[in-house]
Amino acid sequence: MAYDLIVIGTGPGGYVCAIKAAQLGMKVAVVEKRATFGGTCLNIGCIPSKALLHASEVFAHASHGMADLGVEVSGTTLNLDKMMGHKDATVKANVDGVAFLFKKNKIESFIGTGKIVSAGKVSVTADDGTVQELETKNIVIATGSDVAGIPGVAVEIDEKVIVSSTGGIALDKVPGHMVVVGGGVIGLELGSVWSRLGAKVTVVEYLDSILGGMDGEVSKQFQRILAKQGIEFNLGAKVTGVEKTESGAKVTFEPVKGGDAQTIDADVVLVATGRKPFTAGLGLEEAGVVLDNRGRVEINGHYATNVAGIYAIGDVVKGPMLAHKAEDEGVALAEILAGQHGHVNYDVIPGVVYTQPEVASVGKTEEELKAAGVSYKVGKFPFTANGRARAMQATDGFVKVLADKDTDRVLGVHIIGLGAGELIHEAAVLMEFGGSSEDLGRTCHAHPTMSEAVKEAALATFFKPIHM
Ligand SMILES: Cc1cc2nc3c(=O)[nH]c(=O)nc-3n(C[C@H](O)[C@H](O)[C@H](O)COP(=O)(O)OP(=O)(O)OC[C@H]3O[C@@H](n4cnc5c(N)ncnc54)[C@H](O)[C@@H]3O)c2cc1C
Repeated sequence: MAYDLIVIGTGPGGYVCAIKAAQLGMKVAVVEKRATFGGTCLNIGCIPSKALLHASEVFAHASHGMADLGVEVSGTTLNLDKMMGHKDATVKANVDGVAFLFKKNKIESFIGTGKIVSAGKVSVTADDGTVQELETKNIVIATGSDVAGIPGVAVEIDEKVIVSSTGGIALDKVPGHMVVVGGGVIGLELGSVWSRLGAKVTVVEYLDSILGGMDGEVSKQFQRILAKQGIEFNLGAKVTGVEKTESGAKVTFEPVKGGDAQTIDADVVLVATGRKPFTAGLGLEEAGVVLDNRGRVEINGHYATNVAGIYAIGDVVKGPMLAHKAEDEGVALAEILAGQHGHVNYDVIPGVVYTQPEVASVGKTEEELKAAGVSYKVGKFPFTANGRARAMQATDGFVKVLADKDTDRVLGVHIIGLGAGELIHEAAVLMEFGGSSEDLGRTCHAHPTMSEAVKEAALATFFKPIHM
């Protein structure tokens, strides 16, 4: 039977593309090599990590965050098995949800490894070796990404002592000392989880700052907050070795600028140095599909590869490796295939770090505006001056708005604070509509809310804040 579309990979890019295409009247099949749908995000990424971040936050709060509110809790104990059970149940509910949506939208699913035989032909090899060949008008590659190692260092990830994020969300006990290689989002989120549960956590990062690419001011304050929470940092440090020892593992690093090497012992080492596009076994070379110099499938502005009828979206192509970016590309591509004008605005893709407090940003950083020679103005407002934040003892952090100096159009918003990952979306909507800081500052915000800090930062951008 011939399909209109076969999507290889059912992560947020693939499953959303399949659903949207089916909604638009196409006959769709998906191919997934995992036993469950939802890709990295639902199985081993966004969803399980957020389940653990929430549970560990509740534990930390109950252990030592409530006495000042007059709530005295004594004898908090950790049941790690149960916490992992909560994570597994959350994953199951989500992956089952995707299976339900496939059925609802009459999408056929094939479990096995998909390979592009040629344009219009996909083979599926099941675990037992049986092969089926499927025919289709269009193919979407949505095979996502995989853990990247440490550049130039041979590391054997056993997912027990030396772990990637996959092992890092499934440890069976709290390590005494966890060394996190890489101070990016995943390293800091999972480092926070284990730190809250009682591990000593040391981060070793090559760059001079954490969250490389985030606004510099945000990154500095965020590091201070995490350090106050007990996480130690070695920045500007190049890891040259990660080895297992009898009692755990050791990590060797040296200053990037030159100097003596240092070794630290760890019970668990989390390698969180990023992810790389996953294309192994897809048959791209035989099919003639071109990759770029970073191993990503090369696409044009309409997600088309160089081979007619073959498209690609999500982590396997350029752009930020984020679930919502993959989803939006899935929708846009399905619309394009249906003859519509699908489009993603890459200037307005929010990024969130789900720590406590959260860090969220959308649009340009101050560093990017400077480098591009754009004249801009800045408005800032700290949560220490926000009534709701005081009431909730959540005064860490601030909101920073960057707007064009001449037109006042908002170009970037950066927030550290409780619920920043939700707050950022009023900025995203504003920016989608090309709004100004004055538009935001003149929008009535409910009192008392953390969102009032966003309004105040906007007021500070075009004139003056009221409450400071
Ligand atoms: C620990 C962790 C936490 C994260 N947290 C967040 C977060 O909070 N927010 C966020 O936006 N992003 C987060 N991410 C990133 C997010 O998971 C990815 O950006 C997203 O999953 C990419 O979606 P995708 O559809 O491109 O690919 P994936 O989700 O990687 O899915 C690809 C799918 O393709 C399948 N596949 C691969 N090759 C084949 C083949 N040949 N045949 C059949 N199937 C194949 C794979 O099995 C997989 O299921 C996190 C990632 C990790 C690792």
